[in-house]
Amino acid sequence: MLRVATIVDDTEAEGPGRRLALWVQGCTIRCPGCCNPEMFTKVGGTEMAIEAALARVGSGVEGVSILGGEPFEQATAVAAFARGVRARGLSVMVYSGYTMAELHERAASDPGVSELLATIDLLVDGRYDQTLPEPPPPVGRRWLGSTNQVMHYLTPAYSADDPRMHAANTVEVHWRDGKLVVNGWPSGAAALLGRKR
Ligand code: SF4
Repeated sequence: MLRVATIVDDTEAEGPGRRLALWVQGCTIRCPGCCNPEMFTKVGGTEMAIEAALARVGSGVEGVSILGGEPFEQATAVAAFARGVRARGLSVMVYSGYTMAELHERAASDPGVSELLATIDLLVDGRYDQTLPEPPPPVGRRWLGSTNQVMHYLTPAYSADDPRMHAANTVEVHWRDGKLVVNGWPSGAAALLGRKR
């Protein structure tokens, strides 16, 4: 079972192309300035079977982005979901607060971490550091929150010379299940909602 905070079924603001974005619930890292503090607790969100999450992935998307919350803190379930996504020929992008070195360390005691690493095409790693904000493209890198974070191209599915990796960050507003969901570049989303970031 996945513990899910929210899903946006079709977005162009959380990775290359049209993607389903799934935010997992629960993160023990708790970076100061995190844009999703409501996703820190593991008791929130909704439990969702892997098959039910896969059923949400529509035919019009080229992949899935998994954000949080911390995907590697429920690595076995997220890996099962990611394998199902890849089995359909779609791509997987993951945002983690752990560095790649930390993930390799965690893999020694948690096989789910290795399983998840093996299903990822694009990985954004590292804590969000509010003292090191990533400038927006074209000066800075798209989809990264702070300059210490790294975009890892783990398969040939994407490359750094893909023009989509350098386009402007975007923000989207969705109306879903009677609720307004704003997603995309956190600073832009915060400005839209009249909050500080
Ligand atoms: S790792 Fe990600 S979700 Fe967790 S606190 Fe840091 S920015 Fe927020």
